[in-house]
Amino acid sequence: MILIYLFRSSKIDCLLDGLKSDYGNRTFYTLLPSFSNCHLCYFLYILLNIHPLKVKFYGARGSLPVCRREFERYGGNTTCIRLLREQANRVAIFDAGTGIRKLGKELMNEGLDQKLVNIAFSHFHWDHIQGFPFFAPAYKVGQRIGILAPGRKGKITDLKGIFSIPLQQEYFPVPLERMGASFEFYAYGEEETIYGAYLKSISQHHIYPGGSYGFRVHDEGKSLVICTDIEHIDGIDQKIVEFARNADLLIHDGQFTTEEYTKFKGWGHSSWEQAVEVAVQANVKKLIITHHDPDHNDDFLDSLEIQCQKLFPNSLFAKEELEVVV
Ligand SMILES: [Zn+2]
Ligand SMILES: [Zn+2]
Repeated sequence: MILIYLFRSSKIDCLLDGLKSDYGNRTFYTLLPSFSNCHLCYFLYILLNIHPLKVKFYGARGSLPVCRREFERYGGNTTCIRLLREQANRVAIFDAGTGIRKLGKELMNEGLDQKLVNIAFSHFHWDHIQGFPFFAPAYKVGQRIGILAPGRKGKITDLKGIFSIPLQQEYFPVPLERMGASFEFYAYGEEETIYGAYLKSISQHHIYPGGSYGFRVHDEGKSLVICTDIEHIDGIDQKIVEFARNADLLIHDGQFTTEEYTKFKGWGHSSWEQAVEVAVQANVKKLIITHHDPDHNDDFLDSLEIQCQKLFPNSLFAKEELEVVV
C-alpha cells in the first residue's frame, strides 16, 4: 500500500471517500484502487490497516443477556466485538448481540464519520443479532452499513431476510427500510486475499445450518482468530487448531466447564478447558475465553479464570469494556 501525505482538498476528499485520517490541519490518505463496489475489500481495508489493532468487548455473554448485580463485572450483554484502528478512526464490528447498543451510542457520541460501517456475523442466532435494532448508526440517514456473512458465499439465500423478518411490525415498530441508514448485504467466500493479506473464515460445528463461522484476520504480521459458538464433538477439532495456528490472539467460546459439558454435549458450545487445549495445540500467544454461560456469575468466572491461567498463563476471561492490543 502506498501512503500518500496530502493537504486537505475537497476534490481528493471526494475521490477517496472516507479513506482518510486527520492530523491537525493536515489529512493522510491511504491510496488504494477503487473499493466503491467491493465491500469485502473495504472491510479488509479497515481491518488490515489497523495498526495497532485494538480489540474491545462490548458483550461477552452467551445465549441470552443477563442483568443482576453479581453479573456486573463480566457484563450481561451478548456477543459484540469492536476492532479499531485508533489512529485512523476506523471501526469494524463482529456480531451484533446486545452489546452493540453501547457501541452504537459511543460511535454516535464520537461523531461517527465513517461512511461504511461493516458488521461481520459468525451466525445469526438471537444472541448474535439481538442488539441490531438498537444500533444507533442504523438510524443515521446517509450512513451505510455493511452486513457481511464471510464464508457463506453460495450457502445463504436470503441474508436480507434474516434482518428484515425480525423487524416486521409483529416484532418491532421500525422496519429495516425505515431505519434511516442504507444496508448492504454480502456473503463472501472462505478466503479473500487482498494486497497479500486476508480474512479467512471456517465453518465450525454448531447447531446452525452450515455451522457458525470462525474468522482469522491478518494485520501486518499480526493475527487475530475469533471462534465462538463452536463445539468440539469428537475431541479437539484439528481443523480449528490449524486455523488458529500461531495466532497472536485467539478468542474462543468457553461457555461450559468440563463437568457441565458432559450434560450439555450437543448444545453447540465448548468448555473453557477445550479452549485452552486449542490454544496449546495451536501455539497461540494469547487466549481470551468468551460466550460466558448466563448462569455463571462474576465470582464463578473469576475462579475459572484463575484455573485457566494456571494452564495457560497468557489468558483472560472476556469482560465488557476489556480492550487488548493484538
Ligand atoms: Zn451464541
Ligand atoms: Zn449460536
